[in-house]
Amino acid sequence: MPGGGSARPPSERREALKELLAQARSCERCSELAASRRTVVFGAGNADADLMFVGEAPGASEDEQGLPFVGRAGKLLDQLLAEIGMQRSEVFVCNTLKCRPPGNRDPLPVEIENCQEYLLRQVELIEPKVICTLGNFSTKLLRRDPTGITRLHGQSEVITLGRRAVRLYPIYHPAAALYTPRMLQTLREDFAHLPELLAMPAPEQPPAESFDATELTVADGEAPASGGEDEQPAPQPDQLGLF
Ligand code: URA
Repeated sequence: MPGGGSARPPSERREALKELLAQARSCERCSELAASRRTVVFGAGNADADLMFVGEAPGASEDEQGLPFVGRAGKLLDQLLAEIGMQRSEVFVCNTLKCRPPGNRDPLPVEIENCQEYLLRQVELIEPKVICTLGNFSTKLLRRDPTGITRLHGQSEVITLGRRAVRLYPIYHPAAALYTPRMLQTLREDFAHLPELLAMPAPEQPPAESFDATELTVADGEAPASGGEDEQPAPQPDQLGLF
């Protein structure tokens, strides 16, 4: 559909997003993460947002609260948004991994591979115009290229993810900028270009017939349902009210 319009109404896409959330909550694809997580941090914000942020993975606070970017990096993200006249409720925020890697270790390639279908489905259902990748992990994943954030930050490009063409805009991860004033300055300068990117028309969308539906299917996992006797049920916040 030209001009970035959608054939599906927002209410329908939001319902599909809720179904995806339910699938993510019971996901066991990464056995270590499924065993150690307290919550699945699916993402939060406006389910029909023009702007989507994709970070790395939940940390301890996010895992506890079931929400993305609620710690210090999240406070910086809020501040940077406020500086361009926006607030968190206008955007959608999520991560490359939906579960916390133990000890905040880096995501493993197999975990990124396992989790990517959730992110691609989120993009397909939210239909953002601009995706702002925060740091290396989401940038490398969505560009399918190992070029790092130091080279790419602040440069937008149109890419196609599943059936959605978006403007990808890589910037530094707020957590990295917390302790490095020069990086914070660069992050702030890159952030300042977001309003002009959002004011641009959505990129031309690929024709529907060019899409291979199998690319985005989030299949039910093959892992057996959990049921160990010592298992504590994970606390699950009411994320449904958040998008
Ligand atoms: N860092 C991330 O990449 N994601 C979060 O949700 C929090 C910190």
